Order: sequence, then structure tokens, then C-alpha cells
Amino acid sequence: MKQHKQRRLAAVCMIVALGATLLISGCSNEPAPTTEGQKTPQTGSGQVDPALTPQTGEDGSKGDEQVDKLASVKSEAAMATTTEEHNGKSVVTNPESIYVVVNKQRSLPDGYEPTDLVEPNVKFSFSEAHEKRHMRKEAAAALEQLFASANESGIELNAVSGYRSFKRQQSLFSHYVDTQGQEYASRVSAVPGTSEHQTGLSIDVSSPSVSNELEQVFGDSKEGKWLAEHAHEAGFIIRYPEDGEAVTGYMYEPWHIRYVGVEAATAIYEQKTTLEQFLSE
Ligand SMILES: [Zn+2]
Repeated sequence: MKQHKQRRLAAVCMIVALGATLLISGCSNEPAPTTEGQKTPQTGSGQVDPALTPQTGEDGSKGDEQVDKLASVKSEAAMATTTEEHNGKSVVTNPESIYVVVNKQRSLPDGYEPTDLVEPNVKFSFSEAHEKRHMRKEAAAALEQLFASANESGIELNAVSGYRSFKRQQSLFSHYVDTQGQEYASRVSAVPGTSEHQTGLSIDVSSPSVSNELEQVFGDSKEGKWLAEHAHEAGFIIRYPEDGEAVTGYMYEPWHIRYVGVEAATAIYEQKTTLEQFLSE
């Protein structure tokens, strides 16, 4: 009942706001309606239908603050303005940004190594010390949060492979070339300097239910489905979605998650888009 009243109030405020901006001060307790991408649904008589009035907050629409934040992320990290040509290669100018886009067309600067790598306190699929246990500090804290929330939902995830240095990517890539050929290698692995794992913002995760394999079968498992639905809540995206190869350059990888922060991850999840598309709008 109370909620209904609030909706009525919001609807009345909307009409007042539309009709006479001078009177809007009376609505100051309500978040101002956003202007981007939201049209107020109208009934046949031209009145606002309260049931269809956009609400801010829990039911999905955005407050002005979030819209502003996303707009500034998109302009600060826009794909078009964050590369420079170096020896015929496009090299990213923002390797330390949590929004950096590294892909087959966009390399990290030669020798790039993050300065804040730490080991997240989560369960790994192996026990030895290894560089792949690391992530950048902010991403590591978010991963701990993601694993804790999985655990609360009865979902068992294992971390498999995080940070990867240029040198190790080099040896992985040449292993694929040697065993499966150049063409296959470039579909499943990255040319050294173009792996997102080198940013320290990505990690591959799997589950004991699929023997911790990094295979598409993980996407069909209960754990893979949970990950796809909840990764954004901790600031991660499924970086290489199904049917995204034309944009991302990679086949579907339900196990590879990338940290971009909660706002961007939520927007990318809700829009069912990719990091590339999000930052080229
Ligand atoms: Zn990966």
C-alpha cells in the first residue's frame, strides 16, 4: 500500500516536472527522472500510468549518478582514444585502467607488468606456488567476494589461472602453434602482449563438477550458469560470450571472467553486450 502511494507520488511528480519545472522543488525527495533512454509510458488519455512509470533503484532503472558514472567511463576509456601506433602495432595507452581493452588488435605496452599483483584468498584447482595465482589487488578482492557469494549459494568454484606474464604467454602460444597450427592457436590463445591475462584483471574459473576443465561444458554446468548470472554483482563479466567471436576475436569461454567494476559489469550484463561494444558506443 505504501509502495503504491509512493508510485502515485512519483507519477504525480513526473507530470508536474513535465508540465511546470518551476514546481519541481516539491518533488525533491524523489530522485529526478533520468533523461537518457527513458520515455514515460503514457496511457491513451495522455495520463501517466503509474504502473508503467519508471522507478529508480531496485527494479533496474538507473539513477542519475549511475548514468553519469557510466558516461564518464565510456568517455575516459573509449576504444577510439586509448591506443597509439608503435612499430605498426596498436598499443593501449591505459594499461592500468580497470577498463583497458586488450585484444587481437590492441596490445599491452612492451614489458607491461602490473605493480599491484596479490594472491586472492580463494580455492585454486592446484596447490603449488605459481604466478597464475595472482591478480591485481582490486580484482583479487572482488574475486574473494564472488567466491564467497558462490559459496553461500552452494556453488563450488575453483580458480584455475589468473595473471600471465608476457614470457609465459609466449611459451603457451608457441606450444599451441607447434601442436595445433597457427590458425587454431590464434583462435584459442593470444599472441604475446595481447592476452588479457597479462593485465592481471582476468581469471579462468571452473568447478570440480567438470574436473576443473576450461571447456565449454563448464558453461552448461550448474556452476557455470551461476557464474554467468552473478559475476557482475562482484564486478566481473564473461569476457568472451557465446556468439561473440566476431567482436571479441575469441570463441565462447564461459570460464574466463574479467574485472571491470560493478557499474560497468552490470551494464554489460544487462545489455548482453561485450566490453568492446560497450566502449565503442
Ligand atoms: Zn582466460
